[in-house]
Amino acid sequence: MRHLYLNGAWQASASGESIDVINPATEELIDRVPAGSPADVDAAVAAARAALPAWSGTAPAERGKILAAAAELLRERADQIARIIATDMGAPYGLAMKVQTLMPAGVLASYASLAESYDFDTERIGNSWILREPVGVVGAITPWNYPLHQIVCKVGPALAAGCTVVLKPSEVAPLAAFALAGIFDEVGLPPGVFNMVSGRGPVIGEAIAAHPGVDMVSFTGSTQAGRRVAALAATTVKRVALELGGKSASLILPDADLAAAVKVTVANAFINSGQTCSAWTRMIVHRDQYDEAVDLAVQAARKYTVGDPFDEGTKLGPLVSATQRDRVIRYINRGQEEGARLVTGGTDHPLDRGFYVEPTVFAGVAPGMVIEQEEIFGPVLSVIPYSRGEDEAVSIANGTPYGLAGAVWAGDESRAVSVARRLSTGQVAINGGRFNPLAPFGGYKQSGIGRELGEFGLEEYLEVKSLQL
Ligand code: NAD
Repeated sequence: MRHLYLNGAWQASASGESIDVINPATEELIDRVPAGSPADVDAAVAAARAALPAWSGTAPAERGKILAAAAELLRERADQIARIIATDMGAPYGLAMKVQTLMPAGVLASYASLAESYDFDTERIGNSWILREPVGVVGAITPWNYPLHQIVCKVGPALAAGCTVVLKPSEVAPLAAFALAGIFDEVGLPPGVFNMVSGRGPVIGEAIAAHPGVDMVSFTGSTQAGRRVAALAATTVKRVALELGGKSASLILPDADLAAAVKVTVANAFINSGQTCSAWTRMIVHRDQYDEAVDLAVQAARKYTVGDPFDEGTKLGPLVSATQRDRVIRYINRGQEEGARLVTGGTDHPLDRGFYVEPTVFAGVAPGMVIEQEEIFGPVLSVIPYSRGEDEAVSIANGTPYGLAGAVWAGDESRAVSVARRLSTGQVAINGGRFNPLAPFGGYKQSGIGRELGEFGLEEYLEVKSLQL
């Protein structure tokens, strides 16, 4: 069994218990990680507190150098890490390489640069001198869907800011976190600056959220667990950052390039087998173009070849676990019970082993249906018609408790921008504008609190102090 990473060394968990790691494509046991205990969290927090004065006092440029070295090692080991993620999480290898490994390596490198270039302490307002100081000990709790990226989005800025960290990676796909801890160890991050306790959410996640020695908790995961984390953190008035679920809309106006809009929407809905918080899972199309849009979506969906993550032709890997597959299948059944029309895909198991679900498209989805409101987290796209004008389309787009991402498509960019301004959501792609890993990412409404990535992401980990001179 693997060990926890505490105070600069690999150590056995006080619990002695383990969690099985399963390959979702083969259903085989591939590893075991410690099921940590609250005593392990106490040890990790003590190490992080002890390391805080020296690390927060280290020149930001020095912190940046260590992060740059870690980013470099991630790039050098990209093949190995992409294989780990393809194996424990099920992302097709190409995606595991480009999006799951090289993107986080780039994000970590961006925080190495920001540590050097960010203005921590020269701002003046009248007779006041403004200092930006690290929040302190950060508890980071992360999900399995982009297992390395979600970690780097927290640990990168926290370390750049001068905070020390206790990480709890997801127990479902934890192996990339172990690789990253090994890299931090190799590049000489001082003991206690980064600590990792693997284990279950209700045990380790809750111990971190409630711990009086943790100054801030940064959580990415479901809205349900995020609420629990926020409630526990409130007992010590911790700073809280939450990156939660989504049910994002791709809103297509009648003068848009329909073929391009549908193709990109389907790709966005199905990337990572639909296990993406910002996935555009609701395509909102004018009634006059509805049948054509549904046909285009079906054609595009059928090109998503389901298969082993290491087969070159695979565009859709398995879902991460049997639990996740069963949950998605329950939603597909529910959609049919509610009267939505299944136009492709469905509940058949496309391969004889592995937690696969076929790429699925529902037509005739009406606002308010469960499949239109709740995050499914699988390869399921709902196509929703509107028949009046822009106002109706905007109201459907805004009609869920979530607000993480979205898209607007229009012939005229300025019209698309004016519609995007009316959406209650944190990010909007205009006519397919591509993802920018330096732009702020985060949610309105129940999709979260705070922003990750770039300078906005760094500032989440900074307190502001003013000296009156
Ligand atoms: P999850 O909420 O089940 O788990 C996320 C993490 O929280 C895991 O480490 C888990 O062990 C831990 N956890 C679970 N219960 C906890 C509790 N009671 N207290 C503290 N920690 C707890 O989510 P998941 O299934 O791993 O990930 C999928 C969810 O994450 C989806 O809802 C998705 O939208 C969301 N997500 C959001 C973003 C974003 O940036 N907004 C990014 C990725 C994933």
